[in-house]
Amino acid sequence: MARFVFITGGVVSSLGKGLASAALGALLQARGFSVRLRKLDPYLNVDPGTMSPFEHGEVFVTDDGAETDLDLGHYERFTGVPARNTDSISSGRVYSNVLEKERRGDYLGKTIQVVPHVTNEIKDFLHIGEDEVDFMLCEIGGTVGDIEGLPFFEAIRQFSHDRPRGECIFMHLTLLPYLAASGELKTKPTQHSVKELQSIGIAPDILVCRSEHPIPDKEREKIALFCNVRKDSVVAAYDLKSIYEAPLAYHKQGLDQAVLDAFNISPAPKPDLQIWNDVYDRIHTTDGEVNIAIVGKYTQLEDAYKSFKEALTHGGMANRVKVNVSWVDAEVFDSEDAAPYLEGFHAILVPGGFGERGTEGKIKAAEYARINKIPYFGICLGMQMAVIEAARNVVGMVNAGSEEFDFEAGKKRFEPVVYHLQEWVQGNAKIMRKADDNKGGTMRLGSYNATLTPGSKVANIYGSLTIEERHRHRYEVDTKYCARLEEVGLCFSGMSPDGKLPEIVEWTDHPWFIGVQFHPELKSKPFAPHPLFADFVRAAVESSRLV
Ligand code: GLN
Repeated sequence: MARFVFITGGVVSSLGKGLASAALGALLQARGFSVRLRKLDPYLNVDPGTMSPFEHGEVFVTDDGAETDLDLGHYERFTGVPARNTDSISSGRVYSNVLEKERRGDYLGKTIQVVPHVTNEIKDFLHIGEDEVDFMLCEIGGTVGDIEGLPFFEAIRQFSHDRPRGECIFMHLTLLPYLAASGELKTKPTQHSVKELQSIGIAPDILVCRSEHPIPDKEREKIALFCNVRKDSVVAAYDLKSIYEAPLAYHKQGLDQAVLDAFNISPAPKPDLQIWNDVYDRIHTTDGEVNIAIVGKYTQLEDAYKSFKEALTHGGMANRVKVNVSWVDAEVFDSEDAAPYLEGFHAILVPGGFGERGTEGKIKAAEYARINKIPYFGICLGMQMAVIEAARNVVGMVNAGSEEFDFEAGKKRFEPVVYHLQEWVQGNAKIMRKADDNKGGTMRLGSYNATLTPGSKVANIYGSLTIEERHRHRYEVDTKYCARLEEVGLCFSGMSPDGKLPEIVEWTDHPWFIGVQFHPELKSKPFAPHPLFADFVRAAVESSRLV
C-alpha cells in the first residue's frame, strides 16, 4: 500500500503547489521510491477540455486520452511518470459519477448527500492504482476555505482516518508576505490558513512557506509554535531563476527529509541527485542565445502555451543555449504583411489552437518561414496552417482552408484541405464521431502511432521509423490532396499506420520546416528533451549564425 502525501494551499492562489508537488515527487524518486502524482480540482467542469485557455491555461493530454490540468504536465516533466486519466479528477466528474450511479439505482433508494456519497466517490478515486507505487502525491486545487473545495478536504480527512496511523501526511503551502515599511516577514496569514485547515480536521505535518526574503530562524520558530508543526518541517520556498532548480532548492531546504521524517522512514535512503545537478548545470552554463517567436492567439496568457515554452527550454538545454521566447499575436497580421512582425527571429513556432481567429496570420507566418528559409515548427493547428499555406500559395488552390472555419462561419467558403474527421482507428478499435457530437472529449485524443518515411528529416531526428505521440484535435489533413502537395515538394513523412491520416509534413528543400499533427511538447522533459524540440533549437542556432 502506498503512503499518501496530500498537498494543499492557503493564503493566496498561484503559490506553486503543482511545482512543489512535482519537485517532491522527483526528490522521492531520487531516494529510490516510486511515485504517482494526482490532481483533485474543485471546479465543476467535468474536465478542463472545454475550458478556454484564457480560463485555465493549457489542457494537458495524457497517453490514455484524458484532457487534464496543466499541473499534470509539471508532474510528468519532473518525474517522467506518464500521467493517466485517473490522475486528474474534478468536482464535475465526481458529481456526474455520483448522479449516474443514482440514476442507475446503485444507492438503493438512499438520500444522496455530499457526505458520504460524494466524499466516498473521491476516496474511491484516491485508491486507484495505489498498490503500484511507494508514494501517492495528491494535490488539491484552489485554496483552503474555498466553498467548492470542502468535499475534497473532508474526503482527504476521512481517508487519512480510515488508514493505519502514519500512512498519510498533509503538506500545506502558504505565503509569508514581506512588509517593506517595517522590513518584516509576516506569519499571521499562515497562522490563519493553518487554523482554517485545523477547523476542518486537518493538521498539517509540513508547511512550505513561499517567501521573497530569507526566513529568519526566529520566524521559523514562531510559525512552528503557532501552527503546531516541527521547526524542521517549516520549509522555505524562495523564488528561483528556473523552475527546474526546484528539486535541488527544496532538497537544500530539507523538504524530502521532512517528508521521510513525518513518515518515520529511518534511516532515510541517500538521494542520488545526478540528473538534477546536470539539469542545473545546463541551465546555468549556456553558450549563446536564440530568439524564437511563438505565433498564436492566446499570447496574453503564457500558461496557455505552457508545454510549448517548457519544451523549447528543454531544447535549449539540449544545445546549451538560452532560448528567448517572444509571444507574437497572429491576429495582428491577419490582414497585413507578417514580415515586420517576424523579422529577426531565428525560428518560428506555430502552436495548436482552435477556431478561425488569427489563422490567416498563422498562414502568413508559415509562408514567411517557407520563403525566407527560417526554421518553422507547426504543431497541430500549426501543421494544418502550413498545409493550407502550401496548397494556396504553392499548388495554387486559392480557396484552400479548413472545415473548422466553415463550421464556425456556418457556411461553406473553403476547399477543405483540412476536414472534420469522423471515423478512425485506434489500435484495433474503430472510433466514430458525428459533427453534432457534444464538445467534451470527442476529439482524436491521446497516444497514437505513426510510421515515418525512411530517409526523411523526421526519421533522422527521431532515429526510428515508428513513433508514438499524443493527439488532441478534431480535424485532419485530407489525404486526397497529398499527391498534389507532394508534387510541389511538401513531403508527408509521417502517416498513421493505416496510411489514412497524415501525421507529419516537411518541406524537402528547406533547412527545417516541419509540421506535426500531434503534440510532441507534452512528452518533453528537462532531463530528456524531445528530439524534435532539441533539433528545432539546433536549427535556430544555425539560423542565428547566418544573421
Ligand atoms: N483546431 C484544430 C483541430 O481541432 C487543431 C487542434 C489543436 O491544435 N490542438 O483539428
